[in-house]
Amino acid sequence: MQVPFLDLKAQYQSIKGEIDPAIQSVCADAAFVLGKYVYDFEKEFAKYCGAADCIAVDTGTTALHLAMLALDIGVGDEVITAANTFIATCEAISYTGARPVLVDCDEKTYNLDPAKLEARITKRTKAIIPVHLYGQPADMDPILEIARKHNIPVIEDSAQGHGASYKGRSTGSMGIMGCFSFYPGKNLGAYGEGGAITTSNADLAAKIRKLRDHGSAKKYYHDVVGYNYRMEGIQGAVLNVKLRHLDKWNDARRRNADHYRKYLAGSSVIVPVEAPGCKHVYHLFVVRHPRRDDLIAFLGQHGIGALIHYPIPAHLQNAYRHLALAEGEYPVTERVTKEILSLPMFPELTEEQVKFVAEKIREFK
Ligand SMILES: *Cc1c(COP(=O)(O)O)cnc(C)c1O
Repeated sequence: MQVPFLDLKAQYQSIKGEIDPAIQSVCADAAFVLGKYVYDFEKEFAKYCGAADCIAVDTGTTALHLAMLALDIGVGDEVITAANTFIATCEAISYTGARPVLVDCDEKTYNLDPAKLEARITKRTKAIIPVHLYGQPADMDPILEIARKHNIPVIEDSAQGHGASYKGRSTGSMGIMGCFSFYPGKNLGAYGEGGAITTSNADLAAKIRKLRDHGSAKKYYHDVVGYNYRMEGIQGAVLNVKLRHLDKWNDARRRNADHYRKYLAGSSVIVPVEAPGCKHVYHLFVVRHPRRDDLIAFLGQHGIGALIHYPIPAHLQNAYRHLALAEGEYPVTERVTKEILSLPMFPELTEEQVKFVAEKIREFK
């Protein structure tokens, strides 16, 4: 049996009848950049997240960049985010000229540990960006409370959290802005690159709309130096189709997670936990094993795809050497980074496949 890490071809086959005509409509209308398919998606996605507005852009990284620019963050500022995240969160902070300041993660959820947040706040802190890593919402209540106390805005990095919720509130609706990626492998993925910012703040929404389109609200009238960060029409049309399936797909991911937990009970791996009140949408199913690299190789020999998210934390990457953050600065992130592996996880994964993966993990000695 082969169990790929991810199978986007299977998903396309299941919705081909809706996707193909949607793409053809974009071509027939020549609505290639922004346009009605993108604007329709913005409306639907804002509604889905429980936000007043949504601005569609070209990637999740640029969504984060624009969210910070809308808050006038720049050189000399600091932005706090999770030590355990994908590099893009830090890169977007760097694009503004601000300095990324990291907070270690909680050992159970792998998300930013609110108990370690306040110590990292300084007079220069201009935003806090919790990440809903692997599909599990960050512990937002204490984060929002600390942020309120210091009057610092919170931007959610929800690039892995489409459809997740925290105590009944949707990701993308809890911070002043929420940033999403629609990279093909995300829970809601485009057929190319894509991203969006959700917000209920009309001033920020107007500012971001301008910045994503060369600093203009009116064609060829440029009020500020902006960017070409626009979403393509085909991505808007594809995302409109796929958004209608998202809840069903997230339910399938949650069912797969339940199967993993059932078949891996009492095995040598630590399985993910769902924090109280959190709806985890399992963008990734991340387990821990002390001999992680050997286990990945063993699974590979049996036709099972497993990956590491992420093998080197941001502060130890070559790109962030200039931050001069020594090994040992984020002990929990560093410890889990050495032991984590992501098992195959996608909606179309079958119970038989999950069972097979679990059996192979049990065979590993
Ligand atoms: C994917 C991802 C991003 C960046 O999104 P892109 O669309 O690839 O630019 C940012 N943050 C996190 C946590 C991600 O997983």
